[in-house]
Amino acid sequence: MARRFAGGPLLIASHNAGKVREIGELLAPFRVEVISAADLGLPEPEETGHTFADNALLKAHAAAKAARLPALADDSGLAVEALDGAPGIYSARWAGPGKDFGAAMQKVEALLRGVEDRSAKFVCVLTLAWPDGHADVFAGEVIGEIAWPPRGDNGFGYDPIFIADGHDITFGEMEPAAKHAISHRADAFRKLVAACFET
Ligand code: IMP
Repeated sequence: MARRFAGGPLLIASHNAGKVREIGELLAPFRVEVISAADLGLPEPEETGHTFADNALLKAHAAAKAARLPALADDSGLAVEALDGAPGIYSARWAGPGKDFGAAMQKVEALLRGVEDRSAKFVCVLTLAWPDGHADVFAGEVIGEIAWPPRGDNGFGYDPIFIADGHDITFGEMEPAAKHAISHRADAFRKLVAACFET
């Protein structure tokens, strides 16, 4: 049984400004006081897990323990079918220390050159962890395909090369509200909200 969030501050266990902004927008209807790990100067734990869930748990537990607050972590990434799910949990790391997502997107395209199957999905695992060690995990995804060249300046990361099934523009070209209606993060959020936030 998931533990319900009864109000007060909620720590977002991420140093990724794009994610913190999207999580803040998704939580806006729930009158949650959102604080980010970067605001508190918390260190970024090393992502040593082998799955999205491992890494989301690791980040949420570390932040909840350090700040003595409930902490929400998001581990997410792009999984390309023909690349056996890569970049997957390494999505951020493919951009290197300079967070060069132009280069990371080029790498995806180079590996897909000559490959017919361009199907891919974004995956998001959200974990809400508590200072006493309790944690609940919620997973979401959105299925689509890789587009080239990159299009659009909205969103972050690999958004300019991802087109969700049933759409003809990339996440990078979508208005934030349109992305929030269908994204992997929104899918995981619906599950989190139903279990932990709705009264
Ligand atoms: P991590 O979960 O912090 O390890 O990093 C996830 C990485 O996956 C991000 O840095 C992005 O590169 C990518 N990613 C996750 N969600 C999205 C999204 O909504 N749009 C574009 N890229 C994303």
